Amino acid sequence: MEISGSPSLAVHSENLCRHYRMGESLVCAVDGISVDIAAREFVALLGASGSGKSSLLNLVAGLDRPTSGSVIVHGNDLAALSREQLAKYRLHTVGMVFQSFNLIPSMSLFENVELPLRFAEVDRRQRSELARQSLERVGLSRRLTHRPMELSGGEQQRASLARALINRPKLLLADEPTGNLDSRTGTEIMELIRSFNETLGMTVVMVTHEQALAEKYAGRMLQLADGKIVGDVRMGNSASVRTSSAQASSPQRGST
Ligand code: ADP
Ligand code: MG
Repeated sequence: MEISGSPSLAVHSENLCRHYRMGESLVCAVDGISVDIAAREFVALLGASGSGKSSLLNLVAGLDRPTSGSVIVHGNDLAALSREQLAKYRLHTVGMVFQSFNLIPSMSLFENVELPLRFAEVDRRQRSELARQSLERVGLSRRLTHRPMELSGGEQQRASLARALINRPKLLLADEPTGNLDSRTGTEIMELIRSFNETLGMTVVMVTHEQALAEKYAGRMLQLADGKIVGDVRMGNSASVRTSSAQASSPQRGST
């Protein structure tokens, strides 16, 4: 369902809540979040473990539904979508990567990456073409027939980025994408995500608990505590402002 809204707005939420009932008690994982994220922004979601980062990301991803309040992503009012509409939304509007890669072990990289296109019923030739392009973009052209187990963690995360890219989503959602990687490999993944933001114009919302990564790559930091936004800071390094100085000196960042 497309509803009217500013085309430059990627995410708009109003009083968004996701509460979990656990026996007698109620966990307010997302507790009344109202936020706007502009198209092409690179936003880092920070906060302690349990502060609601993944819950919020899953609502924006359409993997979960709000208990109350609204979340509108590129004109899609997610709470109002049917199951099928939501599945379509996930297929075409968002790409997701996780800390644990979530590749299918029995499939080759090529098959993993083209999988979203099968769901989208794209014909075989076009699937093949797009999967190759996507794998090339992340530097994995020579690993098409490998299975995930035969690859390093960094390569697996590259493959999951290629899969997230394949439908050219407007919005990339990343939940601790470098959480299982050493800091050098993590930096390579962050550089790729940055390139998607800058050259493909994708909006990025990335969960991380590494302040240094957020400061280096994001244009805005949203701080969560107890399901609420407690900080919203914009930095100078948004895609439009940033210069190439980051490449000139690229020391390893990370909190190790
Ligand atoms: P974060 O990603 O910031 O670590 P989460 O969004 O995973 O936090 O969790 C926020 C809170 O919601 C935590 O207290 C967590 O225990 C709770 N929670 C998350 N998912 C569920 C669930 N499916 N059922 C019950 N409680 C949950
Ligand atoms: Mg989490």
